[in-house]
Amino acid sequence: MDGFSRGRPGVTGKADAMRGWIEPIIGRLMDHVLTFPEDAGGSPPVPPPLPGRRYLLYAHVPFCERLCPYCSFHRVQFRSDKAARYFRALRDEIRHYRESGYTFSEVYVGGGTPTVCVEELAATLALIRGNWPVREISVETNPNHLTQPVIDTLLAAGVRRLSVGVQSFDDGLLKAMDRYAAYGSGAAIAARLQDLRGAFGTLNADMIFNLPGQSRASLERDLDILREIDIDQVSFYPLMVADSSRRRMARTMGQVDYRNEETGYRLIRQRLGPTHPPSTVWTFSRGDRMIDEYIVGRDEYVGVGSGAFSYLRGSLYATSFSLNQYERLIDRQGFGVTRQRTYSRRWQLRYHLLMALFGLRLHRDRDLRQFGAGCFRALWKELTALRLLGAIRRTPDGYALTDRGMYLWLVMMRRFFTTVNNFRDQMRAHIREERIPEAGCPLAMRQETARPRLR
Ligand code: SF4
Repeated sequence: MDGFSRGRPGVTGKADAMRGWIEPIIGRLMDHVLTFPEDAGGSPPVPPPLPGRRYLLYAHVPFCERLCPYCSFHRVQFRSDKAARYFRALRDEIRHYRESGYTFSEVYVGGGTPTVCVEELAATLALIRGNWPVREISVETNPNHLTQPVIDTLLAAGVRRLSVGVQSFDDGLLKAMDRYAAYGSGAAIAARLQDLRGAFGTLNADMIFNLPGQSRASLERDLDILREIDIDQVSFYPLMVADSSRRRMARTMGQVDYRNEETGYRLIRQRLGPTHPPSTVWTFSRGDRMIDEYIVGRDEYVGVGSGAFSYLRGSLYATSFSLNQYERLIDRQGFGVTRQRTYSRRWQLRYHLLMALFGLRLHRDRDLRQFGAGCFRALWKELTALRLLGAIRRTPDGYALTDRGMYLWLVMMRRFFTTVNNFRDQMRAHIREERIPEAGCPLAMRQETARPRLR
């Protein structure tokens, strides 16, 4: 962030120093967590559901109309015929979970751009709602899809939370990110968000800070606009890129540099905190809201679609990152899972600690119920180290992150998701045939210019 002050003397310096020595340790831990055994060629069996358990369902839609240079998600160039086949396979996989006895109570659809073919998305949500009385449905989208037909379709499909990929309102940065032409100017996006206020239970803006070339003034302006819009929720992600995207970004936007990350984070918390207290380390909400990070506070979840992860009975499962293989697997056996990693009790507890503190606190009673007596004792080394670092403090019902711990956990989660992104890269490395130039979905193309008119 050019022109960023270095913060209060001593504060940022300490944070930098802490980041410097702690990040490699975190990196090694995350590599351990996310190392899957080699693909043995078969498909690991998905365990049956626990009796009476209601699960969270994550569905991945990997298509995007444009592939942003900084993005490390599992996404491919949109093509309508491929998307139609993919959605059919996705619905078949969901049916297969139903036949296996699973019950879902919350649904998150992420991507990619899930609204890239909104009729297919609506058919998928109709299938889910026809089978289970889901309480909450959250969907991600891009600003060019905030049109009346799409909004009406999403509302009719029961969507309660809409998460819009904004990234920044700064036109210079939007152009550098190759988003200006596809998704419109910062002013146009802000106007669309303003029109949408009150339409959904939660309207979330996904933002990024610490982008190469992002100045303090630019970040302050983004924060001012978010306050003017009075948006329900902001997920302000630190820039996190896989190693491959880092090289791509260096050629397009500039070098990734973490030295000003803590200063930017402090500014975001100062500006948003009074109206939007943190719900997670990087999500700020007005009131109690659904959040993007469904992994927070959920001990188990099911992921469907290419490149999705499930966490069930202490094992992490990954579905195939090849769309063609995914469709073949669904055809043959109903599930798309190709990898499984099982954790010891100790690593399950560590994973739980990571995710619980991402959601700001560790609840003693809830954890004792879930993991049984001795779970806090088993984590005594980690908890002691975090207390000595000043990252957590005791509370009447467990532990909470301190002010200092908030930034430490942001680094921790950035490193976690960077490792996930590297894993995604590794899994996609050989899938060349799926990087195809695109043709359009008629409705998505129409959506580019229209502006929503909401009641
Ligand atoms: S940032 Fe969003 S729109 Fe851009 S490529 Fe990634 S998933 Fe697609």
